[in-house]
Parts: sequence; C-alpha cells; structure tokens
Amino acid sequence: MSALHTVNNAHRRALGPIATPDRLLLGPGPSNAHPTVLQALSRNPIGHLDPLYVELMGEVQELLRYAWQTDNRLTIPMSGTGSAAMEAALANTLEPGDKVLIAVKGYFGLRLADMAGRYRADVVTIERPWGEAFTLEEIEAALREHRPAILGMVHAETSTGILQPMEGVGELCRQYGCLLLLDTVTSLGAVPVHLDDWQVDLAYSCSQKGLSCPPGLGPFTMGPRAEAKMEARRGKVPNWYLDVTLLNQYWGTDRVYHHTAPVNMNFGMREALRLLAEEGLEHAWARHRRNAESLWAGLEALGLELHAPEHLRLPTLTTVRIPEGVDGKAFTLHLLNKHGIEVGGGLGALAGKVWRIGLMGYNSRAENVELLLELFRTELPAFRPGAQTGRPAAVAV
Ligand SMILES: *Cc1c(COP(=O)(O)O)cnc(C)c1O
Repeated sequence: MSALHTVNNAHRRALGPIATPDRLLLGPGPSNAHPTVLQALSRNPIGHLDPLYVELMGEVQELLRYAWQTDNRLTIPMSGTGSAAMEAALANTLEPGDKVLIAVKGYFGLRLADMAGRYRADVVTIERPWGEAFTLEEIEAALREHRPAILGMVHAETSTGILQPMEGVGELCRQYGCLLLLDTVTSLGAVPVHLDDWQVDLAYSCSQKGLSCPPGLGPFTMGPRAEAKMEARRGKVPNWYLDVTLLNQYWGTDRVYHHTAPVNMNFGMREALRLLAEEGLEHAWARHRRNAESLWAGLEALGLELHAPEHLRLPTLTTVRIPEGVDGKAFTLHLLNKHGIEVGGGLGALAGKVWRIGLMGYNSRAENVELLLELFRTELPAFRPGAQTGRPAAVAV
C-alpha cells in the first residue's frame, strides 16, 4: 500500500481552527447575518425526514409566502444560491424553442438571457442603459412585437441600483398571454413586493441579501399559470436537481426523499423569516427606505453624485459615482483592510465607474449609515487627486 497523502508541513503549521474577521458587509451581498440566525445555523442537524424538520419546512414555506405576499402553493427554498433559484425558474417552465423576452437593464438581466439560451429558448432581449428602467410603453411594444411565452425581468438590479416599477406589467403580460418572471433577489424582505397583486407567475430570491441569512438558499415560487405550463411539458425538466415536479414530492404532502436538504441553512432561513414577520414587512420596508434616504442625503452632502435617478433608486443598493481621478478600488481596499468594511465596485458597464453600497436586511441600520458616511468624509479626501498626505498605501488581499 502506498503512503497516505499528507498535508505539507508548512500548511500544517498554518492550519488552526477557522478564524475569519467580523467584517461589516456593506456591498452588493452577502450582507451580515442576524446574530440569532447564526445561532440557528449552529444547531446540530436533524434528519431531513424527521417530523420536526417536516414541520419546519411548512413554516419556512408559509413565511416565504408572507414575505412575497403570495398564495402560491409551490413556494420553496431551493438548495443553492439565488442563481440556482433563477435557473429553477427557467428550467421548469421553458421548453426548447419557446420564445422568451428578457428586459435587460444591467448584469443580472444578461445572466437571465444567458441561462434561458442554455435551455434552448428562443431568447430576445430589450435593453435600457445601465442606470435606467423600462416604461410600460416599452414593455408593451416588445410584447406586441415578439409575443413571448415568458417575460423575464429584474425587479432590483443590483448592478445599477435601479428599482423597476412593476405597476401594470402583470396586466400587460396577461393581455399578451405570457408568463411574468421576476428576479426579486435584492428586493425580497427589504423593498415592497406584492407578487400576487402584481400578477407575477414566477419569482426567486436569495438568503444573503434582504433576509439577513448567509448565502446558501434560493427562495423560489411558482403560481398556477406557471404550474400549468410546467405540467403541459412535452419532456422532462432538463435539470434533475432543480426539477420542481420531483422537489414537490418532498416539499408537498408525500415527503419523498429527493436530495438531502441543507437542514441547517433551513434553520437559518426559518429564523431569518421569523425575524422579518416579527418586525412586520411594512416596517422592514420602511426601515430600508429610511436608512437609504439618509445615506443618499449624506453622500450628496459630501458632494458625491448618485448614479440612479431619485425616483428609480433602490433602497437596498446605492450606486455612487467614483469622483474624477479617484482610484475607486484603492479606496474600497482601504475600507476593507483598515476598517473591516466591505463596499462593492462596479460590474460590467459600470466597472471602475461606481461604488456599490448595500444596506440590506440586518445591516440596514442608522449606525451603519453614520459610520460609513463618517469614513467617506474623513478618509476619501486622501484618495482625491492632488491629496498631499496621509494616503495609506493600498494593501492587496
Ligand atoms: C445576487 C443576485 C443574483 C444571484 O444570486 P446568487 O445568490 O449570487 O447566486 C441574481 N440576481 C440579482 C438581482 C442579484 O443581485
């Protein structure tokens, strides 16, 4: 028998128990988890068919329906992050050749279009510049022209800080006989979402943004019209792991094993959703708006420019234009290394042009806004062109 592979000595000496720093995550996600959510996650696992766990599953489903304001029977947390739930929304409803219209106004719209294409849909897109939203007229013109089976759009575009107005979109989709699929990854639990009133047929989210939980689950919901499309499929859902027809045998009344549920993540999700229900949705929405408005006012008072027009601004994610001549990356590295605070950079078309500041879930608090504004006030000047002193060298991580 050959010798066992060993951990090399240099590594062995360095390997102690995990000791990650306590960062304050004010970027595009993940956000910090609520302390009681962390406690829930650290419980010993129980079996995924244990009657106590089965009861917890029902509670998670009911709380998710509340968070989304929906009566959808098929409302479950997908095992995986938000992108897994995004993929589930497409995989279960699309059939090859189906026409899908994706409204792209940022990075996550592009991801939706990419995924839909991989399920061999006939994908057409309409686009708006990164920092704008779609009007009802634009949506209607595209529905009339393309007659898609599904319209996919992003409610809260985390890459641009834009909130897509939803009034009237669902009615148009009914009128043109298409399903409405909505990405609520950065809005659920933080920004008003009225899924049933808006006549949304398919939606998904994540655990780590507005819900104060670590990444690992992707809440997913499907209404009766989307269910009917799934049931009328000619072939199997082309993704075994995310197949709702199979998953519902576990989440529905039969409780048939599909895959081992990430039980601890669901403990955390139950606690996160319980906290949301305890606070009350409307209070959580108001808290996010209040804190975002004070961040916006504070940044503008410092002479900084916000990228999103005020009426379309997203309370959970603020895009701030990096001032002329400032090395945006050096400043965020400074905040991270010197102050333990994470702020995001720009993505795609906005790379190098904006910072992205998240105030999501547990982190949407006045003290975080004050702390960050104080750091922008006192530390940013050293990063401006011509600054003489005090600029700390950026340390690569
Ligand atoms: C973060 C995000 C996703 C992807 O979620 P992951 O949890 O990173 O997989 C999808 N859509 C939007 C709008 C997001 O902000």
